[in-house]
Amino acid sequence: MIPITVVDVDDAEPLVTEVLRSGHLAQGAMVERLEDAFARTAGTKHAVAVNSGTTALVAALKAVELRPEDEVITSPFTFAATLNAILEAGATARFADIRTDDFCLDPDAVATAIGPRTAVLMPVHLYGQTADMGKLAPLADEHGLHVVEDAAQAVGAAFRGRRAGSYGLGCFSLYATKNITTAEGGIIACDDDTIADRIRVLRNQGMRGKYRYEMVGHNYRMTDLHAAVGIPQLAKLDQLTARRQSNAAALSAGLAGAGGLTVPAALPGRSHVWHQYTVLVGPDAAVGRDELAAKLTERGVGNGIYYPKLVFDHDCYRSHPRVIASQAPVAASVTGQALSLPVHPALSQSDMDKIIGDVRQIMGE
Ligand SMILES: *Cc1c(COP(=O)(O)O)cnc(C)c1O
Repeated sequence: MIPITVVDVDDAEPLVTEVLRSGHLAQGAMVERLEDAFARTAGTKHAVAVNSGTTALVAALKAVELRPEDEVITSPFTFAATLNAILEAGATARFADIRTDDFCLDPDAVATAIGPRTAVLMPVHLYGQTADMGKLAPLADEHGLHVVEDAAQAVGAAFRGRRAGSYGLGCFSLYATKNITTAEGGIIACDDDTIADRIRVLRNQGMRGKYRYEMVGHNYRMTDLHAAVGIPQLAKLDQLTARRQSNAAALSAGLAGAGGLTVPAALPGRSHVWHQYTVLVGPDAAVGRDELAAKLTERGVGNGIYYPKLVFDHDCYRSHPRVIASQAPVAASVTGQALSLPVHPALSQSDMDKIIGDVRQIMGE
């Protein structure tokens, strides 16, 4: 089986052993080291490590101090964590449709969705490519909105040379299957001193100094053990990304025109880090999306459907008073057509040949 994702933390051992021997396992010097290195990668003044990508989003939303009636506009085509974080932070979620060329928020749809209660714009940089920040950032400025980027899938991506996560509060996931990992973990990149400071206090029970509670906080802390796993990952990020990029280019060259598939592309001015390589199996394709997925699995080619439904299209959200579901015809149609193929750095040439060959055969070419 060619897996859709591979976890490679072979070089984590020396630092992990160092932490184990030190007897200091919880948040400490190793977390700080990861934060310093991450801030340089993101191109931001600060990076604050937390224990998941989800808590990164929650902490960022709490740090901008929303009022109960405030709304966050985000994409309906995302992982549940995006929506869970908005609800956990006490805000209301509103959605704008996406575009099919980048699978991210459509700036025109966002402009229409903005209302008097909108406080935050939360673009999701899906599959490793940023949303159209050239239009979204000025739109947020014009309306005085905070920008909280769900950059969970986009570590190292850039829009016109500016890194994902540096447009506002950049929230990254370091979960096991993401482009780099600490097993579980997350990190918030930002330039704002006050907000970074608030997130640091928030993550430690709202405490500044011993038993001086400044705000209602939580335990969002990362452990030094997890940071030790992440440091060597971050050091080889550029190398890992380059492999994903060359794999994606080879897939697109090999799959172009196969049975009515639409292959994904890095848009001009955007540096795509290919967290997922996602084709669209349109209504005119020789074989439907679900059939292609099943046949690939049968042949040992791992694949994934991210995501089979709009994020709010589940009972627990449909009946939720702070979820404003709306029509999103583009996203809805993409949920029925998207199929992700393996693109990870551990793929061999024969893996690549098999993926391309099998897809082409199944699509009848
Ligand atoms: C993975 C992911 C998250 C959540 O990250 P965790 O580390 O799993 O909590 C949030 N948003 C998106 C788009 C993700 O892919």
